[in-house]
Amino acid sequence: MPFEFETVKNTKVVSSKGRDFILRAGKLFDGKGKTAVKDRDILIRGGRIAETGKRGAFDALGLEVMDCSGSFVMPGLIEAHLHLSGMHTQEKYSRYFENKDVRLIRALNHAEELLAHGFTTVRELGAKGRGIGIREGIAKGLCHGPRILTSIEFLSPSGGHGDWPIFPYDFVKETSMRSVLVDGVDECVKAVRLLLREGADFVKIVTATGGFGQVYETMKFRPCFNMAEITAMSNEAHEQGKKIASHVVGHVGAMNAINGGIDTLEHCFFNFDQHPEVLDAIVKKGLTVVPTMSIIKWFGEYEEQTGRPDAAARFYRNVQMHGKFVKAAWEAGVPIACGTDENGMHGTGRCPEEYVSLVEAGLPEYAVLQGATSVAAATLGLENETGSIEAGKVADILVLNKNPLDDISVLRFKESVDCVIQG
Ligand SMILES: [Zn+2]
Repeated sequence: MPFEFETVKNTKVVSSKGRDFILRAGKLFDGKGKTAVKDRDILIRGGRIAETGKRGAFDALGLEVMDCSGSFVMPGLIEAHLHLSGMHTQEKYSRYFENKDVRLIRALNHAEELLAHGFTTVRELGAKGRGIGIREGIAKGLCHGPRILTSIEFLSPSGGHGDWPIFPYDFVKETSMRSVLVDGVDECVKAVRLLLREGADFVKIVTATGGFGQVYETMKFRPCFNMAEITAMSNEAHEQGKKIASHVVGHVGAMNAINGGIDTLEHCFFNFDQHPEVLDAIVKKGLTVVPTMSIIKWFGEYEEQTGRPDAAARFYRNVQMHGKFVKAAWEAGVPIACGTDENGMHGTGRCPEEYVSLVEAGLPEYAVLQGATSVAAATLGLENETGSIEAGKVADILVLNKNPLDDISVLRFKESVDCVIQG
């Protein structure tokens, strides 16, 4: 293969920018269909997909051919929910204290790891102010990584999910220790304006407190922002042409988010058995769910490793209960986008585990691959840019030596990646 490539954490990465070539795919999954089509050629011009056709369709052009005729070709993966510059520990007193430069270096390391696993785009939902730097550094080619969309920080009311009440309030608020704390419509709207002024790609708020390790039947949660605040923030984001995402736990927080104009429901963890009406409301509004099964499972693993098997069992059960909702939502036509809530502790190399969890919940492999590509792109508002292999899209492409439609777990291993093409 005469193609120049760089090696990022042992994975070949090819830039499609400014080059014209033909990618010869053995099997092509376009990100939207249910199956892969055999023997397709992709004409790539200047970093974008110009056309796709049968094998040999573009040979007359006399362009270079990247021969992947023995490979499975699909759109680059999109991770719809993570925190690149997150925590280094779960320990409640020290989790938000770490040298800022070390945090940044870890984030860059995690960005490289994502690219090496085939992720060409990620949505970052709060990076302790580092999101813009990471985004721009990668966009300028100063370091390797996927395209990044960031909310910079997330917004919470005082005493809400983004507060950290074990420390004095003034300190938590002044340092934006966990989130930006705002109360009342005026402060909320101003905070949205300031983050968008700083260059945030979207807004992230919280509509309820509540953990993932509770007993499912007696789940406790407390609503955060009130309806006036949620609606005002949604309106402001939408007026500026941006989407708004919310951390959603519990049925009350879910309904507030749904009725308050939120676009994407993050986690969306609530008691589905007792509150099926939440799903009806999601369907009616045509909202997207990013279920983040992985973080619930990883918290369970953490409890197991630290000698608390009962707590671990609750998390694992909640993965299953949450999975029932996710399957029902998918069957009802709700777009399910793949995101893990990886927060710096688990390692972005584990992000493809979300796909395995979704298949275990009962989604077919093709639906999960759509959730990791075209559905995730639409969730990020990038449906005209990436997430599918069709004319006009950026050439963000993943070339695999295994077929994830047969076994989704192959995506967990870098060894399955032949190369990543970045547009
Ligand atoms: Zn998150």
